Amino acid sequence: MNFVEVIAKKRDGLELTPDQLRSFVSGAATGLLGDEQLAAMLMAICIRGATAAETQVLVEAMRDSGALWRLGEACPGVVDKHSTGGVGDSVSLAFAPLVAACSVPVAMMAGAGLGHTQGTLDKLAAIPSFRPVTSRDGAVRALEQCGVCMASQSEEIAPADRKLYALRDITGTVPSLPLIVASIMSKKLAVGASALVLDVKQGSGAFCKTREQADALARGLLAAADGAAMPAVALVTDMDEPLGDRLGCASEVRACLEVLEGRGDARLRDLTVALAVEALMLAGRSADEAKAQSAKALQDGSARRRYDDVVRAHGGDPAPELLPRPRRTVTVTAARGGFVQAIASEELGWLAVALGAGRRRQGDSVDLAAGIVIRARRGDRVEPGAPLVTLELGDREVALDSMVARAAAAFTIGDTPPSPAPLVDRRLTRQS
Ligand code: URA
Repeated sequence: MNFVEVIAKKRDGLELTPDQLRSFVSGAATGLLGDEQLAAMLMAICIRGATAAETQVLVEAMRDSGALWRLGEACPGVVDKHSTGGVGDSVSLAFAPLVAACSVPVAMMAGAGLGHTQGTLDKLAAIPSFRPVTSRDGAVRALEQCGVCMASQSEEIAPADRKLYALRDITGTVPSLPLIVASIMSKKLAVGASALVLDVKQGSGAFCKTREQADALARGLLAAADGAAMPAVALVTDMDEPLGDRLGCASEVRACLEVLEGRGDARLRDLTVALAVEALMLAGRSADEAKAQSAKALQDGSARRRYDDVVRAHGGDPAPELLPRPRRTVTVTAARGGFVQAIASEELGWLAVALGAGRRRQGDSVDLAAGIVIRARRGDRVEPGAPLVTLELGDREVALDSMVARAAAAFTIGDTPPSPAPLVDRRLTRQS
């Protein structure tokens, strides 16, 4: 087959056959197709879109481009969770031990930070000596030891996605629904958990800014899971303000420990519990049983103890006092009194990146101690001079005056309270 004809067919808006799509994916994984042709096809898909059937073929071909871990066979009932990325979203670190403490195993493929969001892989790096698993054997061993495996994407999982994602990043073809669905779901299906909980973020701090975008992404992900017979549920959740009250690697680990100790930020705790309840329901518990079990695991300390087991099973030291600490802190205060009407989460995310808590470009190192503590939440009434955020400074040299000005400008303070926004806006399944 001449691949130029395949590119031209998609360019003209025609549907590709499964064989044509498979030749695209295998050409990416094996290097048989050059970057020029791959990039042209990515752009054609980005502009012309893909049908549901084409998207499903892409998902499966990308999944099959590498190893299949089939963790659901080694560890029946194992659940995976995926968040589409938000600010202050450290749910995974609390979700996994909480669900495992309720006797449901959890397998997650952690990723590095993307854009203004911090990634779970970077947060795990703040835990001394923690090593995410990179092989199926390692994953099975961790699941047997502590009921949780935290994996990092290795060369062997969905290599076609590695190649295509790197090209999308430099060709303006990241924001394409079929390509995002294929990228996320190929990796989920290659790991092969028994069920999947999706947290689709919606709002100013999320990649999906609107209800329509979040719905389309959630439905695309659910359809791909359904196509592979993987039970899945999606919660569409608010990202119009940061989820938790900490941004940054070590800081977000501390936030999770507080949640596991039954305290901490209410939004982070409530969403962790809501997603854990969904995971337990996918494992066959009724809604009431799932709520009661997750509440008990937080109250009786079993979820917190499970965190220590999970860290040790991954070679780490769970002592909280060993987490990196900021070199110094600077508190930013309110210039006027009133109600916090809005918090520009994406801007706070980028500010955390500028402090060192994320990467500005590939290959940058992350400052594990750097971050932001949010001291006033949306709807709070603040007096003039009240703390809004505390900037946690690590080793990176930063222009402090401009950071302080940017942090203050991220808060809109007015005379009236904002209307409340639900944390979990809606719950979607394949049927709903
Ligand atoms: N996360 C992924 O893994 N892939 C995408 O395309 C977007 C987010």
